[in-house]
Amino acid sequence: MRVAVLSDIHGNLHALEAALAAADAARVDEVWCLGDVVGYGARPNECCALVRERASVCLAGNHDLVVVGTLGIEEFSHDAADAAAWAREHLAEENRAWLAGLPSIAERDGVLLVHGSPRDPVWEYVLSIDAASAALEATEAPLVLVGHSHVALALGLSNGHLSGGLAPAGAELDLTAGRRLLNPGSVGQPRDGDPRAAWLLLDLGARRATFERVDYDVAATQAEIREAGLPELLAARLSSGS
Ligand code: ZN
Repeated sequence: MRVAVLSDIHGNLHALEAALAAADAARVDEVWCLGDVVGYGARPNECCALVRERASVCLAGNHDLVVVGTLGIEEFSHDAADAAAWAREHLAEENRAWLAGLPSIAERDGVLLVHGSPRDPVWEYVLSIDAASAALEATEAPLVLVGHSHVALALGLSNGHLSGGLAPAGAELDLTAGRRLLNPGSVGQPRDGDPRAAWLLLDLGARRATFERVDYDVAATQAEIREAGLPELLAARLSSGS
């Protein structure tokens, strides 16, 4: 089975459409989403509708939970809080109900999916070797998929040794040896210096993973963010992916 793993879409419809088109071209059987469908971006309803239609599993991220009111808006500062307040006002009731019913952790075909980390599925960022080590210790799953940091990462544990780091476009991994913790990066707001939409192609039969990046119409998304009156930084940062 071939799977497209998406995470951190953040209301960026143009990036989501580009990632799904690339996934279709790669002939994937399923789409999995690691959460943060909404927050920051100006097209939360369209992104919810498309993920509902296409994803066979979708998690709730911290932004989703703040926007639907499960978590308080005071959890966020500045731009994230302003954007969450905007999304609360604009999110359709059916999308609010859908997001509110999503799990924060799931298992699919022996793969563990979490937004943050296995020990804190909502909030913990896995961005260091120590955090990755703790994350792998918290579960027995051979393959763990995380989102939340917006940084594409590939970490591997074999013979008690954890190694790896940033996963640039085109990085390919053999999943047959040892355990892995992978972050596909962010579809809608990359923060690893590559502004293209990030996604992960997982081939569970061949036990291979490939980190993918795809161009999208950044200017169109920026124009929508500005037109909605959302914080300028949320538009500006999309140009650099940082
Ligand atoms: Zn996010």
